[in-house]
Amino acid sequence: MMLKHAIYQTGTINSLLEAVYDGDTTLKYLASKGDLGLGALDAINGELIICDGEFFRADANCRLNKLLKEDKTPFAIISHFQPSLSFELKADSFADLERQLLAQLPSLNLIYTFKIKGVFSQIDLRSEECTCRPYRRLIEILPDLQRTCTFENMQGTLVGVYFPTYLAQVNVPGFHFHFVDAKQEIGGHVFGLNLSAGVVEVQIIHELDLSLIASAEFYQANLAGNITDEVTQVEKLRS
Ligand SMILES: [Zn+2]
Repeated sequence: MMLKHAIYQTGTINSLLEAVYDGDTTLKYLASKGDLGLGALDAINGELIICDGEFFRADANCRLNKLLKEDKTPFAIISHFQPSLSFELKADSFADLERQLLAQLPSLNLIYTFKIKGVFSQIDLRSEECTCRPYRRLIEILPDLQRTCTFENMQGTLVGVYFPTYLAQVNVPGFHFHFVDAKQEIGGHVFGLNLSAGVVEVQIIHELDLSLIASAEFYQANLAGNITDEVTQVEKLRS
């Protein structure tokens, strides 16, 4: 039997959209599950980026801070990164990057993780201020919490995942990238870029290890709704 690579996930994209903003998984535990990943932090307090085993929080100004092992996440994904595909590319937009990556994937029905090191003539990032209880749905609060930043002539690494459409209630369908710059000072959630030279590494994933949150908020959240449009608005668009 072929060796199947696994990815670990805590929380779901629909629980995050339904205001389950506090998780039960510490970053220390997450670190036992891999060295490359991305996600959110409790109370939506910035963006989480995991690259080469290092954990970073991007604050609302897209500046990176180190995290504590006891910090928790309500939504994160991580794998032991073992790429099996590698190639070089340039991309003059996020859509162009998506098109070129799709063309290289052996199937749209699998999960993939990506590490893309490169030179970015431009990168558009966002991160968030934290929110306070009582928690309201993400679509309602994100416009007030999020800050967008554009940086030019950056070297750094995109950390990304691809999820197939049929898992759209579980994770963001399609591509989802976070960024950390080479100096480990700047990062965030990526919604635009111009990649002037990049080396892509791809890991093919056949196993999803999904940890559901043990909390009253998760138990009581309505996770049955169709959130496709909201995910697009929250994760893909500059608002
Ligand atoms: Zn993100």
